[in-house]
Amino acid sequence: MDCNFRVGIGYDCHQLVEGRRLILGGMEIPFERGLQGHSDADVLTHALMDALLGAAGLGDIGEYFPDTDESFLDARSVDLLGKVLSFLEKDGFMPVNADITVAAENPFLRPHIGQMILNLENGGMPVGSVNIKATRGEGMGFVGREEGIAAMAVALIRRV
Ligand SMILES: [Zn+2]
Repeated sequence: MDCNFRVGIGYDCHQLVEGRRLILGGMEIPFERGLQGHSDADVLTHALMDALLGAAGLGDIGEYFPDTDESFLDARSVDLLGKVLSFLEKDGFMPVNADITVAAENPFLRPHIGQMILNLENGGMPVGSVNIKATRGEGMGFVGREEGIAAMAVALIRRV
């Protein structure tokens, strides 16, 4: 396909459990529970990585960072984002923009969004390319019952 722009979508969810730190957008958010996962379980960054890989036609994060691989135990997802961006670069792509929605009943995330965007930019996203929105489950479903946190992302990339 000969097109300079490509779009991808990403979706991820992780379970909220006791005894884990809550990491979202590369930062620890004060909360009494955290997300279960092999890496830091940064659901927001995972959705972004899947959107970027999808746009480039490179599959999904499970192929590159399998949870059976001990080297990714407690890995910082923002560091893995840097690897994803290097895969895109190798194929001649760079991000144009990404829009991410994170759905969490609690805690209230809006005060942290500015820092999350900075963290993703420090992880390799172009400055000004990332938008993050926080929403809730309104008491419905696994998000509303605080059983987990979900995130979805769309990313546009261009050939350079
Ligand atoms: Zn994940």
